[in-house]
Amino acid sequence: MRLMKFGLYLAALSAFGLPALAQPNPRLEAKARKIHERVFTVDTHADTPMNLGKPGFDLARDNAPTDYKLDFPKMKRGGLDAVFWAVYMGQGPRTPEGNAAAKQEALTIFAAIHAALKAHPNEMALATTPEEAQRIRKSGRRAIFIGIENGYPVGRDLSLLQEYYTLGARYMTLSHGNNNDLCDSSTDPNGPEHQGLSALGEQAVAEMNRLGMMVDISHTSDSTFYDVLRLSKAPVIASHSAARALSNVPRNLSDDMLRALALHGGVIQLNLYSPYVKTPPANPARAAAVQTFNAKWNVKNFLNVYSLPQPQQAQALADMGKLDKQFPVPLATVQDAANQIDHIVRVAGINHVGIGGDFDGGTELNGLNDVGEYPNLTLELVRRGYSRPDIEKIWSGNLFRVMQAVERAKEKQNKATL
Ligand SMILES: [Zn+2]
Repeated sequence: MRLMKFGLYLAALSAFGLPALAQPNPRLEAKARKIHERVFTVDTHADTPMNLGKPGFDLARDNAPTDYKLDFPKMKRGGLDAVFWAVYMGQGPRTPEGNAAAKQEALTIFAAIHAALKAHPNEMALATTPEEAQRIRKSGRRAIFIGIENGYPVGRDLSLLQEYYTLGARYMTLSHGNNNDLCDSSTDPNGPEHQGLSALGEQAVAEMNRLGMMVDISHTSDSTFYDVLRLSKAPVIASHSAARALSNVPRNLSDDMLRALALHGGVIQLNLYSPYVKTPPANPARAAAVQTFNAKWNVKNFLNVYSLPQPQQAQALADMGKLDKQFPVPLATVQDAANQIDHIVRVAGINHVGIGGDFDGGTELNGLNDVGEYPNLTLELVRRGYSRPDIEKIWSGNLFRVMQAVERAKEKQNKATL
């Protein structure tokens, strides 16, 4: 297993034409370790809740990193103080029955998260504000924030936003891979439907502003993104997105979008999913296999697979697993992730980038296989000359500034309506 991994690593290095590995530099490494230990670190997107019910998975144990990318030992090893767990849902039928089922599913995931928190009171606690997260760290525990990925569980009933907020949700990603009743997604096989936010989506943004829930534009279409910026009274986030300039997928943000997000005071939390971090090298055989796959399952993008009903979804995922084994994509590296940060800093500025790794949602990089290896990212930033205050902004300062701005916008609005 190890040998195979190392072989992949070498293959990735040669395929990507990377410079030779950095020479060991104990002084720099000690400096990076110290910075990483001292700054508050938060990752705004992990799909760990999907693992909570799996037989054999134990948060308190160092689970096999090939299957599980986040547990307490890995958070500890990786110096990760806080993480947003996603209440994630693929897009299903937009019918009263579908919406009711989505709501039930969301409530079940919230319950699983709260049960996990209750089962591990000495290791973690729920955080809903930056201040709470800092207090939890001081008590020697890890802070767990909650975000909802996909507006589907809201259906057409915006009062549910209040219910999810009460359960701890502090952001909602408006869509996943397909359009929903709130907005267009960046990857719907049928293209745009509302030309951005729907009328209901506009009301949802206003309600999220009123509640103090961050609006998350990851996964949404470009026109949804610009609609949100036009309407939101508070800065917004991309909880797990990367820059299109380095990997041209619809799900990433263009330079113009990065600049607009920054002007609006928001933050892009870098998604570390390898194909989003760096365009994989051309592979015609894989491209042909993907085309056959897409035709078989009638999808345009692999994210659309998650909107297929069961059991087709499971079969399609199994097909995709075989395809990945037959035509593997060399993994991008921790250096490629730092290239993304460099690019976003150049375009949007140091005050508008953070980390939203998407671990347990398909992410692994060479040099950053799971959250336990997060210190490698800080080391790479130190090597590139980022100062401690810069690194602090990237690891939490920028996100926490947005959370506080969202809270201030809420208070201002509530005062105005009194
Ligand atoms: Zn996602």
